[in-house]
Amino acid sequence: MSKVVVIGSGLGGLTCAYILQKNGYDVTVLEQGAQAGGCLQCFSRKGVKFETGMHFIGSAAPGQTMYRVMRYFGLGDTVRLSPLDTAAYNTVDLCGQRFRFANGKDAFIEQMAEYFPREKDALHRYMDIIQSIASASTIASLTSDSRDMAAETEYRTRSMNEVLDGLFDDELLKNVLAGDLPLYSAELDRTPFSQHAFIMDFYNRSAFRVVGGSDSIARSLAGSIADMGGRIEVKCKAVKIHCNDVRATGVETENGRFYPADFVIATVHPKRLMEMLDTRLIRPAFRARICSMPQTASGFAVYVKFRPETMPYMNTNLFGYSGRTPWNCEHYTRDEWPKGFLYMHFCHEDRAVWARGGVILTYMDFKDVEKWKGTATGRRGQEYGMFKRVHAERLMAEVDRHCPGFLSSVESYWTSTPLTYLDYTGTEDGSMYGVAQDIHAGAAGRVPYRTRIPNLFLAGQNVNSHGMLGVVVGTIVTCSELVPSAQIYRQINEAYL
Ligand SMILES: Cc1cc2nc3c(=O)[nH]c(=O)nc-3n(C[C@H](O)[C@H](O)[C@H](O)COP(=O)(O)OP(=O)(O)OC[C@H]3O[C@@H](n4cnc5c(N)ncnc54)[C@H](O)[C@@H]3O)c2cc1C
Repeated sequence: MSKVVVIGSGLGGLTCAYILQKNGYDVTVLEQGAQAGGCLQCFSRKGVKFETGMHFIGSAAPGQTMYRVMRYFGLGDTVRLSPLDTAAYNTVDLCGQRFRFANGKDAFIEQMAEYFPREKDALHRYMDIIQSIASASTIASLTSDSRDMAAETEYRTRSMNEVLDGLFDDELLKNVLAGDLPLYSAELDRTPFSQHAFIMDFYNRSAFRVVGGSDSIARSLAGSIADMGGRIEVKCKAVKIHCNDVRATGVETENGRFYPADFVIATVHPKRLMEMLDTRLIRPAFRARICSMPQTASGFAVYVKFRPETMPYMNTNLFGYSGRTPWNCEHYTRDEWPKGFLYMHFCHEDRAVWARGGVILTYMDFKDVEKWKGTATGRRGQEYGMFKRVHAERLMAEVDRHCPGFLSSVESYWTSTPLTYLDYTGTEDGSMYGVAQDIHAGAAGRVPYRTRIPNLFLAGQNVNSHGMLGVVVGTIVTCSELVPSAQIYRQINEAYL
């Protein structure tokens, strides 16, 4: 049985391990943290559970892509989903008005056309383009057939704002359609329209919260991997990938253990991977390219516990902006921060009436916290505590401005900064979604899933894209190096029958 060592136990690592263990490999997952899951992890404070990096998923209604993928991964019975409001899975609060995103192509167009009647034809064209890009992906058809990639290729090289400018006249509508851009940390003139299209399509088809927290996804995957004979070793930080003259031979961990491997799959940030490789098999030019890739923005989060039965459960994701546009919120002066936020409630139970907890996310530059880099979580000192308090209070005041009464429901709160993301996931500068997609970078801007070391592969959010769908697509591509893709797709389709 060939041995595979997977580095990192986030969604990328766990889904790779699941596929490979199921298909006859002997898999060990190494995780630096105390629990498996990466961004799927949750934490509890004062009896309330909080999700850290997976708040809602899309295309998971019966028959849809994520529904079928989840069944394949054994998540169909173990992970309970709660639909977001189908008339408003997202709400964009901009220029004093609220704009609701409805599920389904026709409902979405009808609702947007009520706000912007003169743009109805353009909205049809917009949704047609979104669907043609999304359906060009193999995951949409769940087959390994080669597809007509023309639509995706064109919109991979055109920026999101350029395409929106070409489609619509109304500035406010363009900004509303870009209003959910914190979900992918989109940047003006840089983020490809294709990324916007995949995410718009994913959630437009259907959108759900995970009842009880996204850690149920990690728990279920980890349990299935163990049941099939695989292993997940936590508190086991990979520090070095050993290589001979031609290939990787195994992985050394911080606690001095060595895991021999026929194949290694790294699902960590690619810069962390470069730090584990001192072999001449990796060319300096490749290393330099990987280390100079742009990162998505990093973030600041406030986790709120509400006083009992004071905050009605909000079954939509609220994107609020202080200015006239969602763009450029990652660039701010001290006085301007925060320029926007994403505010969500956690779904603690089916048909929730009251919210027990919620999260507010906003951008924060790593430089704002850089002076505390290298200090340990919980021991960063008083000044850091004050920094977090001041920023949390400003962010909560901004939410209260958009949602009057919010502050009076807050019982307690906790925060995370870019340093927290750095410590918990190892992304460069605590970036939320890893390497950024950039239309100007061409092929050099993509993280490859193969390396010059023939038995070392990459997976996770930096390969392909982030998020539930983006990571799983990357997983299938990477695992196809070891298991024929047709076999993986056949298994996915069989699991649905
Ligand atoms: C704030 C936030 C909100 C999000 N919301 C959503 C959402 O609502 N819906 C959605 O679909 N997606 C969302 N995402 C994105 C999604 O969570 C991620 O893209 C995805 O979970 C990443 O999975 P991964 O396996 O690639 O990486 P990670 O989850 O980061 O896992 C990497 C793992 O590698 C481990 N690791 C790092 N270095 C080492 C080492 N040297 N040795 C061993 N282990 C190591 C880390 O500890 C970590 O566990 C969100 C992300 C963030 C940050």
